Amino acid sequence: MKYNILLNHRAVSHYYLLHDNYITVVQVLQTQHPDNNGILLKSQKNSLDNFTACEGCDLLLPVVEAPPGHSVVCPRCGTTISRRSTHSIAKTLALSITGLFLYFPAVLLPLMTLESFGFKGSANIIDSIVIFYTNDYYFVAFMTLFSALILPLVLLSLVFILSLQLRFKWYPLYLARLFRTYLKLEEWAMVEVYLLGIMITIIKMMGHSEIHYHTGLLCFILLVLTSLAITTVIDKDFFWETIERGGKEKHQQQQVEFPDRDATTFVTAAERGIQVCHTCHKLSLSSATTCPRCGDGLHSRKPQSVSRTWALVMTSIVFFIPANIMPIMRVDFLGVADRSTILDGIIYFFHTGSYAIGLIIFTASIVVPMFKIVGLTILLLSTHPRSTRYLKQKTAMFRFIAFIGRWSMLDIFVIALLTVLVDFGFFSSIHAAPAATYFCFVVAATMCAAITFDPRIMWDKYTHYAKTAHD
Ligand SMILES: [Zn+2]
Ligand SMILES: [Zn+2]
Repeated sequence: MKYNILLNHRAVSHYYLLHDNYITVVQVLQTQHPDNNGILLKSQKNSLDNFTACEGCDLLLPVVEAPPGHSVVCPRCGTTISRRSTHSIAKTLALSITGLFLYFPAVLLPLMTLESFGFKGSANIIDSIVIFYTNDYYFVAFMTLFSALILPLVLLSLVFILSLQLRFKWYPLYLARLFRTYLKLEEWAMVEVYLLGIMITIIKMMGHSEIHYHTGLLCFILLVLTSLAITTVIDKDFFWETIERGGKEKHQQQQVEFPDRDATTFVTAAERGIQVCHTCHKLSLSSATTCPRCGDGLHSRKPQSVSRTWALVMTSIVFFIPANIMPIMRVDFLGVADRSTILDGIIYFFHTGSYAIGLIIFTASIVVPMFKIVGLTILLLSTHPRSTRYLKQKTAMFRFIAFIGRWSMLDIFVIALLTVLVDFGFFSSIHAAPAATYFCFVVAATMCAAITFDPRIMWDKYTHYAKTAHD
């Protein structure tokens, strides 16, 4: 059976043959990389360490060492299996130190000041959270506090401790737990969304008042860039391998029986009695309950994935209605209150000619949540036994839903900033309105739904269908 593994768009033909308890891997690498030109023959014994399972479709694959800077992609569903980067530990350490230095000025110093008709209002991140809290928007305050203030600091500290210990070859037992915590929290940090919120606020207020920028804003922009750089240089597989070895030589892994079978059918980990860890991607036998590497609980498939995801999607549909019908923002101008819904805000931008901003808010606040709800419903319906079409496209859609989840918080962050900046007493002020809470529920519920959904369930039906059709 021929597999096409893609290493950054350069086709690498990848064959693997199963016979006599051995898997022979034949790779024809067609990369421009000097070390990997021509044909490479590799024979691998059946140790679990030589294999990996795709997170998207559970396909069992031999480990392919990608050249640094390249990524290995699953030939069946397109999910990224591994991404290599060079000097990952040193670069991560340097970036985390930079991030920690930038963090405090970025959140404590004022970002900008608005000046209008002699009134002045300045804002930093903490003010924008406090104002939600004092106006009794507790859930919105909590989401903003957690995603824009606490989590970035926690993640930077975790990455700093981890890369420092690995750099100086100290391997205390808690390293695995630290890295596990980092991976679980990672997607809830939203500093880059907050930065886009700052930019939109600036453009929104540009015509109405004079804006003064402060050092805090520069620090915040640099903090966001540093955080983004960390996510690209951190080589998770390499980190796990280093933590597991703990300075010692690589120990021999459990051996697994791979009985001789027809090499033309796809083999999934579950069929072989193997399961992959959700957190660190190490393979273990199906009988194991905790991962020997990271200590996380093991499940062949995410527990009650379909029912939990249905419950969360239904919750988000229920909250999506008041989030759009009720006002999300209240503008007081000379004592007259003007309440506006999400859609009113977008229409305002189109009326004033700010089409690009209108389009960004429309995408983040209406298109993205609707896409997530509709997309997850399609995925859930695809777990039905007879639904075996477009699985590759559906898996790609799942990855996209998981990726875009947090960008919906954009409008909330804009309102948070406006509330603090535009507080000119009786003359003019901006406040959050009830829909903000419902909207936060929608964002949180859809993000959780993307976490509880297990795309491998769709592929299980396909595998089962293909196998029974052959018999
Ligand atoms: Zn796959
Ligand atoms: Zn694990």
